[in-house]
Amino acid sequence: MTDPDIDGGRLWSDLMTLGAIGGTAAGGCFRPALSETDAAARALFRLWAEEAGMIVTTDAIGNIFARRTGSEDLPPVMIGSHLDTQMPGGRFDGVLGVVAGLVVVRALNAAGITTRHPIEVVNWTNEEGARFQPGVMGSAVFAGLLPLEEALSRTDRDGTRLSDELARNGIAGPVPAAPRPVHRYLELHIEQGPLLEAEATDIGLVTHSTFMCSGFVDIHGANAHAQIEAMGQRRNALLAAARLILAIEEVGAAVDPAGRVSATVIENWPNNRVNIPHLTKLTYMAVHDTAEGLADINARIRAAADAIAEATRTRIDIAPSHLRQATVFPADLRKRAADVAGGRGLTVREMMTLTAHDALSLAHLCPSALIFVPCRDGISHAEGEWCEPHWAANGARLLLGLALDQADRITEVNI
Ligand SMILES: [Zn+2]
Repeated sequence: MTDPDIDGGRLWSDLMTLGAIGGTAAGGCFRPALSETDAAARALFRLWAEEAGMIVTTDAIGNIFARRTGSEDLPPVMIGSHLDTQMPGGRFDGVLGVVAGLVVVRALNAAGITTRHPIEVVNWTNEEGARFQPGVMGSAVFAGLLPLEEALSRTDRDGTRLSDELARNGIAGPVPAAPRPVHRYLELHIEQGPLLEAEATDIGLVTHSTFMCSGFVDIHGANAHAQIEAMGQRRNALLAAARLILAIEEVGAAVDPAGRVSATVIENWPNNRVNIPHLTKLTYMAVHDTAEGLADINARIRAAADAIAEATRTRIDIAPSHLRQATVFPADLRKRAADVAGGRGLTVREMMTLTAHDALSLAHLCPSALIFVPCRDGISHAEGEWCEPHWAANGARLLLGLALDQADRITEVNI
């Protein structure tokens, strides 16, 4: 029986080819969800999947499923991640998990291996949440965690509706975007942190995620003429925002490393140089290891906002939302992954994830595994993001072994 191996050279060339779609001069990638560059990357993924003999379908939110048939009509083992990037982002975040799935399927084809369960390589729509919020969107719709209509109604900063972009670039397909049985979900991703590289460990197996939430802050001041109104009379929403941004950062510093929080978005009205702003909106992103810790972060920010509102004579409304519960990944699948990795001479450690991934959505549907490989200096969501070719290949090698194990490789019987 042939023992299959992945083609590391092809893995690398596919990563570089996709990285050129929306590639930036600084070596990064600018490929927002549902943009023309995203559509081009999707078309190439579809072409590669069809070349590998897979059946490709797309659902109503644009998730693409490339299916390698199994010997039985069973729920599939899914391998996937996302092809969209931050604005700009790097060439590995998300892309690695999709391309590695294709590399796994090519390895099975080359070795003539059949599995009982089908294998589906998936590209989830809008994982990054850079252009349309919230992120992890396509997988959340698929897992039944986010209503399709709510996702379709989202708009970007220019007011473009997500549903219109799906239609304009011909991305949406006829398959219902709804839960269906999935046997296992396997996602390979760069760590987006420094631990694996620092320890020279090949593989990180994720045990659980943090609790996360965003806070949406509306600061109400009073519109006035910026050249006339006396300083003591001003109710400047932007001034209150500036103070609150600093206060949020101090809360983050006080709870680090168990939790972290920063203000990440600001919008201001009328945003006119001769007017005192009457409305400023902030968003912050908070994470913590525990639900109580996250509640404490929100409470500290609320208290700081009360003091700032009083001092600046503004009103500050805060709506913490999009609370994402911690997801715990099943230990038995992680143990299988560790065994497979050990059999291939790869070193492994367990770790948590600070960031959201599509695997957090899929974990609601089926036993799921989130597998990390190192990235240089822990840098991601940036043009300098980098994953060494052998780091990526190690991850794909584990993915192949785990897919064979979970999709139930059929052993030939001599007769
Ligand atoms: Zn990602």
